[in-house]
Amino acid sequence: MAFVPEKPPIHGETPETLGQRLSAQGYPGYRAAQIFEWVFKRRAESPEVMTNLPAPLRAWLADTFDFSPTTVLGKKTASDVTQKLLQRLRDGSLIETVIIRAPMEGVGQEQSRRTICISTQVGCAFGCKFCASGLEGLKRNLSVGEIVCQLIQVCRIEDAVSPERAAEGLASFDNIVVMGMGEPMANYENLMAALRAANAPWGFGFGARRITISTSGVVPKILELAEESLGVRLAISLHGATNEVREQIMPVNRKWPLEELLPACKVFARKHGRMLTLEYILIDAINDGLDQAKRLGEIARDLHAHVNLIPYNTVQGLAWKRPSLTRQERFAGIVRQAGISVTLRREKGHDIDAACGQLRLQTEKAQGDNLPPAVA
Ligand code: SAH
Ligand code: SF4
Repeated sequence: MAFVPEKPPIHGETPETLGQRLSAQGYPGYRAAQIFEWVFKRRAESPEVMTNLPAPLRAWLADTFDFSPTTVLGKKTASDVTQKLLQRLRDGSLIETVIIRAPMEGVGQEQSRRTICISTQVGCAFGCKFCASGLEGLKRNLSVGEIVCQLIQVCRIEDAVSPERAAEGLASFDNIVVMGMGEPMANYENLMAALRAANAPWGFGFGARRITISTSGVVPKILELAEESLGVRLAISLHGATNEVREQIMPVNRKWPLEELLPACKVFARKHGRMLTLEYILIDAINDGLDQAKRLGEIARDLHAHVNLIPYNTVQGLAWKRPSLTRQERFAGIVRQAGISVTLRREKGHDIDAACGQLRLQTEKAQGDNLPPAVA
């Protein structure tokens, strides 16, 4: 399952690992800091532009590391300012990164808040019945460098919109949600290394509180995350408020049923003193019964959690549909009655198939191996 690239991505290095390799070549330690500055803060696409490095070092870097572990093949923009980047990895696999712009009154596009949604795996082994990412199983985990490079690809695009962030060497987005393709907790080590790089001063210096990991409920990893010093936020893909309903749509519930998942969530919330988010996709006549709404309200109250209701996005090949607007609102109303803060998401990016894994699946189906050319 592991893919070993010809050269390791530079984006997967740390000051320690890069420092060691540099000193083995006879270069002083401060060169690592200069290289990270180019990679993260100046979004360099190759060592050629690293003009403060000696030419032999630039040549060694080019020979030793991959500076483009992901290549943007195309961008799809939805009318409501969601943009999706389809990227090709070195082994030909496809992944997606989504940029979601929250339009803000009185400010232009360049100042609106940007949340980016990153992928952690190619495909997914968890097989949730509503999700396009899991339809064809898991191909492989992403490497640290492939996860980090998604962040840098977004910066390259967004720098054109708001160059002042780039000028300060900051990431040109406001939030990271780990909600793209794959189950983040099944690629825990690589994900955490990538997030530590984003958070580190030598990376983007990006605040951990602005990072949210979403999981389908891998209990041991939720407990491990609770012990991490990196204080990221947690979202739980609940999608069913009783075992009976949840296990029909999420096989993971058989391994870690609610009586194990909910106490683990409580441990996390207590350690971090922060609100969790419960994600709940509304699927017509599957999990949108009013008994589920009532139980969801109780669970959220017990966990002091926020509830995010997401109308189901139709996946090709699945018969399900989203409930009517009235039914969605009735469900939200009942959860709210329990004193819970609830958002009913107006699905962003519905018209570009922004739900998890859908663009990649369609592209693979339509094109086989004849992928579109890279976009500069
Ligand atoms: N594996 C992790 C993170 C990726 S999936 C997890 O399950 O939490 C994250 C989210 O993608 C889901 O919680 C859901 O919000 C969204 N999603 C997947 N399929 C969807 C669909 N058909 N309609 C709407 N949202 C969907
Ligand atoms: Fe995997 Fe998450 Fe999709 Fe479930 S919802 S199949 S865990 S990516």
